[in-house]
Amino acid sequence: MARLEIRQVSKIFADHTAVSDVSLTVNDGEFLVLLGPSGCGKSTLLRMIAGLDLPTYGDIVIGDRVATRLQPKDRNIAMVFQNYALYPHLTVYENIAFPLRVRGADSRLVDEKVQWAAGLVGLSKLLKRKPRQMSGGERQRTALARSLVRDPDVFLLDEPLSNLDAKLRHSAREELRQFQDRVGVTSVYVTHDQVEAMGLGDRIVVMQAGTVRQIGTPEEIYQHP
Ligand code: ADP
Ligand code: ADP
Repeated sequence: MARLEIRQVSKIFADHTAVSDVSLTVNDGEFLVLLGPSGCGKSTLLRMIAGLDLPTYGDIVIGDRVATRLQPKDRNIAMVFQNYALYPHLTVYENIAFPLRVRGADSRLVDEKVQWAAGLVGLSKLLKRKPRQMSGGERQRTALARSLVRDPDVFLLDEPLSNLDAKLRHSAREELRQFQDRVGVTSVYVTHDQVEAMGLGDRIVVMQAGTVRQIGTPEEIYQHP
C-alpha cells in the first residue's frame, strides 16, 4: 500500500494532447474514481501510472519513489482490465496462485497468499472450481484476487465491469464495494458510468478533454455538478 502522486503530468501524442497538466494525490488506502466521457484521457493516465506509457511532462510518485524513472516491472502495481482472461484448465486456486508460481514462491507462501486474496473477494469456498463452473461475477472476482495476490502498492482498474450485462453489473458493483471496504489498497478506478463512480469512489475525479474539471467526494460532486 502506498500514496500515489501525479505531479503536473501531460501526455502529448503526435498531434494531440491526451492529458494536460494533471495533478492529483491518491491517499494511502483510498479508492479514487476517474470519471469522464470516452476520449477524455482516463486510460492514458492509468497507463502512465502503470508505466505502460511515459508522461511527456511531469512525474508520478508512488510512496517515496519517483515511478516515472522505474520500469513497469519495478513498480509494484496491479492492473485489471475489462478483458481479463482466466486459464480455463486451471482451478480458481491455481489461477490466483499463478503470479506467485511464476516467481517460484514456495508453496507455503503461495497458500497463505491465495487464501488471503480469495478471502478478500469472497471466493474461499470455490477454490477447487474451474472457470467454466462459475458465474461471470465469480470469474471477475478470481481475476481481482489474482491481481492482488502479490500485495500491490497500487491497484488500477480500467472499466472492469463494462463487459458484464446490466444485471450482473449491478451485483458485481455491490461485491466490488464490499471488497473495497475490506482490502484498503490504494486504488484508481476508471469508468464513464456516473452511477458506478458515485457508488464506489471515496473521491471522484471528473475529467474532461484531458484535464481535471472537479475533484470531490460523491456528496460534493452530487451537490455541485
Ligand atoms: P479514455 O480512456 O478517457 O476514453 P484515452 O486515454 O483512451 O481516453 O484517450 C485520450 C485521447 O488520447 C483520445 O483522444 C485518444 O484518441 C488519444 N490517444 C490515446 N492513445 C493514443 C495513442 N497511442 N496515440 C494517439 N492518440 C492516442
Ligand atoms: P496444457 O493445457 O496442455 O497443460 P500448459 O499448461 O502446459 O498446457 O500451457 C501451455 C502454454 O500456455 C504454456 O506455454 C504456458 O505459458 C501457457 N499457460 C498455460 N497455463 C497458463 C497459466 N495458468 N498462466 C499462464 N500461462 C499459461
